[in-house]
Amino acid sequence: MKLRHVTSARQFDIKTLQDLFAFTDKIKSGKYNNKALSGKIMATLFYQPSTRTRFSFESAILKLGGSTISSENAAEFSSAIKGETMQDTIRIVDSYADVIVIRHPQSGITDLAASYSKVPVINAGDGVGEHPTQALLDLYTIFEKKKTKEFTIAICGDHAHYRPHHSLSYLLSLYPKIKIIYVSPKRLSMPKELREHLKKKKIHFVETEDFTSSIKEADVIYQGRIPKEYLGAQYKKYLGKFILDKRALSSIKKNAIIMHPLPRVNEITPDVDSDPRAIYFEEARNGLYVRMALLLSIL
Ligand code: ASP
Repeated sequence: MKLRHVTSARQFDIKTLQDLFAFTDKIKSGKYNNKALSGKIMATLFYQPSTRTRFSFESAILKLGGSTISSENAAEFSSAIKGETMQDTIRIVDSYADVIVIRHPQSGITDLAASYSKVPVINAGDGVGEHPTQALLDLYTIFEKKKTKEFTIAICGDHAHYRPHHSLSYLLSLYPKIKIIYVSPKRLSMPKELREHLKKKKIHFVETEDFTSSIKEADVIYQGRIPKEYLGAQYKKYLGKFILDKRALSSIKKNAIIMHPLPRVNEITPDVDSDPRAIYFEEARNGLYVRMALLLSIL
């Protein structure tokens, strides 16, 4: 599959992931040392905050010889504040850049952007929708660590609003031997569309509020932030429901891995960081290599 716009994790197939991850391995091991993107310009338009995603995308293109033009606070410092539409913004930025990376609070907006853009558009998080490149680096990390496509993963937090859970689920649904345990308060269970997708794909999944027994059963524990920005006054009610702390470590599998797309608030306490099963910082580092591979594949 030739990659162009990347707006949803739903667009990937197993072969494309295999190729992308093989390429990522090569980059990570230092065997790919080529300024192949020299002369290419990446625009990053971020209407919501970011640390890892924007920096790793920018670092990725710089390492490959390209350059970047960036609006880290596009909501305030681009013409959006004057009322310019995304359609018009894209019709301008696509003449200045070879690829456009967008983070925006509105779900689905990168599809709209892609339909107007002459250059590839990458979704770096669209509201409560998706975060496909986060899912790519998550899945890459899982396969790198577990070395199998047959495992149980407990995804914990807010499945209604937290976009990394949506995109990761879509990628996981390509692999029929994976079991997914969705841990959340009932009110924060997954969107209907995702549930239907999993059923259609015949994925073995369960939905529960039982954090303690789920993490015991899991080979991969994937914690997520409770996103304050979408929950308003409800936020406090859910904050602190599922905390993985040092005490919990004695109950989980010896070879489990603990992941988090970050930033964390209190879902994983800092005293867990030194446990060898805690791999979230490595996971974030993989974001650089996966995004390098992705930019090379697209451009
Ligand atoms: N950095 C991720 C995102 O933008 C996760 C988060 O915000 O908590 O979706």
